[in-house]
Amino acid sequence: MNPSFDLSGRVAVVTGANTGIGQGIAVALAAAGADIAAVGRSSADETAAMVRALGRKCELVSADLSSIAPVGDVVEQVVSSLGGLDILVNNAGIIRRADSVDFTEADWDAVIDTNLKSVFFLCQAAGRHMIARHEATGQRGKIVNIASMLSFQGGIRVPSYTASKSGVAGLTKLLACEWAAKGVNVNAIAPGYIATNNTAALQADETRNRQIIERIPEGRWGSPEDIGGAAVFLSSKAADYVQGHVLAVDGGWLAR
Ligand code: NAP
Repeated sequence: MNPSFDLSGRVAVVTGANTGIGQGIAVALAAAGADIAAVGRSSADETAAMVRALGRKCELVSADLSSIAPVGDVVEQVVSSLGGLDILVNNAGIIRRADSVDFTEADWDAVIDTNLKSVFFLCQAAGRHMIARHEATGQRGKIVNIASMLSFQGGIRVPSYTASKSGVAGLTKLLACEWAAKGVNVNAIAPGYIATNNTAALQADETRNRQIIERIPEGRWGSPEDIGGAAVFLSSKAADYVQGHVLAVDGGWLAR
């Protein structure tokens, strides 16, 4: 492997790593050499088995990220059990669908709290650790936020999701501006249409499924593995001069 992409000796926190894109990212980072802290509210035993089969450590950290209450403990637990925190992947997220005229405050708050508020405060907790460590050792930290096509486009019937993911793109740029000179790279990945639980309803809708595939130049849904390579790149030394970028991994969706 090109040494610039080698993550040996690095510790990566991945939120929502039990399934879908988070699992794909955790396994890709482990294959590149990182130890993983899988943070979430459901058991990530399957992911842990996949990471350990690659010869890497996997620490399971229980946290419900619908509030910021667990954020400080997450960082403390990872640093004390795995000896540091080099990479944070903010992947956990939810979506609620309803016409905007009917959209409820509960569906607004649930999505914004999980997808945007917890993302910022996890960045803050990890960023404090990374900045202090960079001052002491010169080692850079990497933050990768999971954005969306709806960081660029409007979408329909998902107002809080679009607001949250547009917010994630803006936050990523803001944090890059504040922390680039302090030893932290902050970037985002915007997945296109990826076959996971999050998109199960769309995949099951014959008309929407056909319309989506017809618009994707690659002509297929993406898989969680498709996102892994971008996460390894943005977490690695190879991306030391990449800052505030939102990298679309979308089979060409935005190019159309
Ligand atoms: P998924 O299979 O539904 O996974 C979502 C993950 O987030 C799960 O691990 C879930 O844990 C976790 N999560 C949700 N609420 C949480 C909470 N309160 N506390 C802790 N963890 C929580 O969906 P996915 O498609 O892999 O989505 C992963 C990320 O990619 C999300 O941010 C999503 O918005 C984004 N994304 C997905 C697509 C796509 O096409 N699939 C496209 C663009 C962006 P549980 O299993 O416990 O619910």
